[in-house]
Amino acid sequence: MSAKLIDGEALAARIRADLAPQVDAVRRRTGAPPRLASILVGDNAGARVYARSQARSCEEAGIAYDLVELAADAGAGALAAAIARLGTDAAVHGIILQMPLPAGLVAREMTERIPPAKDVEGVTAAILGRLMFLEGADLVPCTAAAAYELIRFTIGDIRGAECVVVGRSAIVGKPVACLIMNDRGTCTVCHTGTRDLKGHTTRADVLVVAAGRPGLISGEHVRPGAVVIDVGINRVPLLDAAGGPVLNDKGRPKMKTVGDVDFESAAAVAGAITPVPGGVGPVTVAILLRNTVRAARALVR
Ligand code: NDP
Repeated sequence: MSAKLIDGEALAARIRADLAPQVDAVRRRTGAPPRLASILVGDNAGARVYARSQARSCEEAGIAYDLVELAADAGAGALAAAIARLGTDAAVHGIILQMPLPAGLVAREMTERIPPAKDVEGVTAAILGRLMFLEGADLVPCTAAAAYELIRFTIGDIRGAECVVVGRSAIVGKPVACLIMNDRGTCTVCHTGTRDLKGHTTRADVLVVAAGRPGLISGEHVRPGAVVIDVGINRVPLLDAAGGPVLNDKGRPKMKTVGDVDFESAAAVAGAITPVPGGVGPVTVAILLRNTVRAARALVR
């Protein structure tokens, strides 16, 4: 490996350290900490793990965290009522709707009910729309902002950099492209309709990959010396030296978390690269905390 490892934990720690005095400022003003409410509908195991880890991160940052649980069959009316109640509760500054929702609930219809002032994940049309404007954004979509902050952490000024984003989703690919453009980076967005993916990625000074496809990008896709930000989170079977699955004590394949980038081959060519885990993930959590504190400060002003 010749690439420098981009330390997401270090950047996350820096962002969190900046929050401490702001959390105190909210406490001084209201007598209570910033408060994040997370709605979990049904009992999706992944969403529950995610919520538990959010609760831990909030506690470490001095932010109160409420888990609001609804039964899987609660229905759209009950969920809408829960969001409305949290929306008008002055003690709550941020609202998260855990995904995935049970069948029958339409995610976009439900997330749009979150008041933009409390949309700390940055998933509503209002918050995403604000990215079109060049004014300093207050709340930003967490993962996209994490990728953007990691680029800045690594190269400083984005202006003029040739950036390629693989993935055009509304929560990652497109907002990353917007943040890059807002800083006058030159940005190309690739997707499954892109004719020559490698032709684009090998031109990139900065390559952001958010496709949800393990191993989509390997060393041959990377320009020598490029900065590679791997947003992907994929669970794949752990393989032994012979290429067979490693089994756990129940005889099931052991799993590991990998990104969308084949780390070994890409790290041999890139100048700097994020690991998975330990790259975008911790920064995403830090941005969620930062958004919550920003929302609280704006709401209690
Ligand atoms: P989506 O599935 O919504 O979007 C994936 C995008 O990748 C689509 O635009 C798709 O193109 C594109 N894509 C898929 N396959 C290819 C391919 N072979 N060639 C070119 N483009 C391709 O995913 P998300 O944006 O929600 O998430 C992306 C990844 O980021 C996932 O692994 C997810 O787990 C991870 N993630 C990580 C987070 C973190 O905190 N680190 C948080 C959120 C997500 P098209 O539109 O044409 O189908």
